[in-house]
Amino acid sequence: MGFWWRPIASLFGIGLIALLVWVGGSALMALGFLSLALLFYLFRQFWQENRLFRWLEKNGTTPAPLDTGAWGDIFYRLEKLQKRQNQSNSELVTALGQFKHAAEAVPDGIAILNQQDQIEWCNPASKRYLGLDCTRDKGQFIHYLLRQTQFVNFLSERDYSRWLNCRSPVNRDLLLSLQLVPFGSEQKLLIARDITELERVDAMRRDFVANVSHELRTPLTVVGGFVETLGEMDRLADVDLKHYFGIMHAHTKRMQRLLDDLLTLSRLESADNAITEEQIQVPDLVRELAREAESLSRNKHVVRVEIQSQSWLLGSLQELQSAFSNLVSNAVRYTPDGGQIILRWFEQEGQPVFSVIDTGEGIASEHIPRLTERFYRVDRSRSRETGGTGLGLAIVKHILTRHGARLDIQSTPGKGSTFSAIFPAERLIPAPADDQKPRLALVK
Ligand code: ADP
Repeated sequence: MGFWWRPIASLFGIGLIALLVWVGGSALMALGFLSLALLFYLFRQFWQENRLFRWLEKNGTTPAPLDTGAWGDIFYRLEKLQKRQNQSNSELVTALGQFKHAAEAVPDGIAILNQQDQIEWCNPASKRYLGLDCTRDKGQFIHYLLRQTQFVNFLSERDYSRWLNCRSPVNRDLLLSLQLVPFGSEQKLLIARDITELERVDAMRRDFVANVSHELRTPLTVVGGFVETLGEMDRLADVDLKHYFGIMHAHTKRMQRLLDDLLTLSRLESADNAITEEQIQVPDLVRELAREAESLSRNKHVVRVEIQSQSWLLGSLQELQSAFSNLVSNAVRYTPDGGQIILRWFEQEGQPVFSVIDTGEGIASEHIPRLTERFYRVDRSRSRETGGTGLGLAIVKHILTRHGARLDIQSTPGKGSTFSAIFPAERLIPAPADDQKPRLALVK
């Protein structure tokens, strides 16, 4: 049964009692009773309304007034409604709080724009990338704050499939990718993503491909040209033939060296290729490298070995031999005939160091930080003449980094250079007693 019967039942009861009073007493008594009862009923309604009003004023923070009858039912139902409302409010507050924290943690800059492109909200990263401040700039038109023409055009185009790449207005070193994402009723998310690193890697990749193509093109053109010329000639003297084949052989060797170095670099770069940890007998390795240097120099330089430590090294013999050999070969190639090359193995503040010191042409200081970049050369023609690929020091740096070591370069133009591989102290192995030495063959 519905709610309506309760007040009707009360009024009906009053009417019934008044009728009984009339029958048992007089009409006047019945009328008096009826007036009093109705007055009481009315007063009670006002009183309950007042209680309800005061309870509602407290926003349901206190329990609803208790009562029997219709008013008790009203209070009970209102309290239930209020509780449900409070519950969904607190769920909404929690969800909003979580959204706010998540949006603040997003590394991309995010701003919510309304239909008129006014800022409704933005996260802290948008300050870093776009210079927006949520409290200061709320309600501002975004194009008043980001005035670059390309951004204003991008905003007005409303082409949501497009990205705009531009420099950050607050930090010119940052390259940003901006995107507009529509949502809700004509609102938009403006997302700013930092693509500086991506762009740098992409530029490196483009340079690398261009450099490799350029390096391969010259020898291939020479070989191709000779093959074509030889094919067109009827008769050739043996000496000419020998000369042409000699040049072609030199150029094919150059291409081979380049491809070998490229493969070495790519092998070193593959992350799943961990180094093998061997006990390397460095003093013997240094003596072997000195013999290599003498043969490369064809005795045109004075090569000296200075073993100042008998310690060994923990690392990959094959990789370190290749890195040290690159440094030695550079010293020979960039030191004029008659110069001196010293191969030194020593300890410096507990760290093992391998140095190659030459009295060669030296390197101007502005080139030094870039020497380990792929294909970076100070003197391109000297590098080519001496069979360089421009990848040697890049390989050295990779190998040393894999061993936790670093390459130190000291040089004075016209006087010479010192290239030092400085290893962490943990890689130093005190020289074992003679009878315990494991026999580690040098890689040929
Ligand atoms: P390259 O194959 O050209 O020698 P590297 O990566 O080994 O390439 O070296 C990069 C550049 O560093 C060389 O082209 C050269 O200009 C310079 N360089 C390297 N070692 C020496 C050295 N010992 N003396 C002078 N310049 C050097």
